[in-house]
Amino acid sequence: MRVGNAIYMDYQSTTPLDPEVRAAMLPYMEDRFGNPHSSSHRFGWEAEAAVDVGRGRVAQLLDVDPANLYFTAGATESNNIAIKGLALGRRGRMITLATEHSCVLESTRASKQFGSEPLILPVEQDGLINLGQLEDALTEDTVAVSVMAVNNEIGVIQPIKQIAALTKSRGIWLHCDAAQAYGKIHVTDLAKHADLISLSGHKIYGPKGIGALYVAPEAKRQMGVLMSGGGQEGMLRSGTLAPALCAGFGQAALLAEGQVEAEMARAQRHFDQLMAGFEAMGVPYQLNGHADTRLKSNLNLSIEGHDSARLMANLRRLAVSSGAACASAKEGPSYVLEALGVPAALAEASLRIGTGRFTDDAQVDDALGYLEDALTKSRRKSWSK
Ligand SMILES: *Cc1c(COP(=O)(O)O)cnc(C)c1O
Repeated sequence: MRVGNAIYMDYQSTTPLDPEVRAAMLPYMEDRFGNPHSSSHRFGWEAEAAVDVGRGRVAQLLDVDPANLYFTAGATESNNIAIKGLALGRRGRMITLATEHSCVLESTRASKQFGSEPLILPVEQDGLINLGQLEDALTEDTVAVSVMAVNNEIGVIQPIKQIAALTKSRGIWLHCDAAQAYGKIHVTDLAKHADLISLSGHKIYGPKGIGALYVAPEAKRQMGVLMSGGGQEGMLRSGTLAPALCAGFGQAALLAEGQVEAEMARAQRHFDQLMAGFEAMGVPYQLNGHADTRLKSNLNLSIEGHDSARLMANLRRLAVSSGAACASAKEGPSYVLEALGVPAALAEASLRIGTGRFTDDAQVDDALGYLEDALTKSRRKSWSK
């Protein structure tokens, strides 16, 4: 994606709206403005129909019954409703990993106020979960385990099936933040393993401000409710739905369904192109996170002897990230890289390059050129100090 003279390679923080998604949304921002919960006239009915179609499409990509899929304001809200909802339902241990998205970590920590016992497990150096350690942590009073499918900073893919093999037999709920997996890898098996799954619209070329939470009926019966009101979304999340957002999210899911294979092939090609480019530059770098068990559209690397803030200042025409967008607001190196045991100097020299649907080979070539220039400039600056 090029806008003006800038190339966008930060697809983990958000994705541009697909033109087909925009087209699906527009009618609901114009004449079809009805409240989807108004049941007495056609304005309400047509808005409700848009919500139903959107829900069906979002559910189909996950291969779940739309009746068990609830719209939310985004994956942050889904994760809060899931984790705090389970904690409200029953007191006990709430387990998650140190590399989870901040909203999962904070919700798990906050569950303490409901009497829960939060436990945050470390990960291996490659970012993957240590299954033995998880098994040891599963006590009789453990309520839930929350592990993401794909990490937003380093792209590693966690073994949800193997985790479920440990939780299911013990009657422990498994929640999975799939915001970075949905639409990017095949997720049609995910609901066979995870009892609750969080999704986000804007990570799959849909609109911002909408997400979804899949909840297996047995889990839902044991959950407490955070958002009280009119009882919309199966009592889990009251409030008037936004039909335009529901329609857009649905259209984005429909588009993604036919493109997963092509996206994976494109991501692999650009990953190889970027790695070859860094090799050719001759800069010493390390790839953060497991080299193969990862999403290839995410290239997180640390470049020795560089400071990512200074590098970024010299990268005016390339939008990449020096960590998660949500964590970038905070000071200091990424807690995810820290959890991998990446030394502070290398964590502060990290760069996340994210490719996506609108990335082409020429953009990758240009991006490598901009990176080489910026690396030369920021090196000069550090020498002149
Ligand atoms: C983006 C993201 C979130 C937050 O999603 P929003 O819809 O922006 O609230 C949560 N988890 C992961 C893994 C993400 O990538």
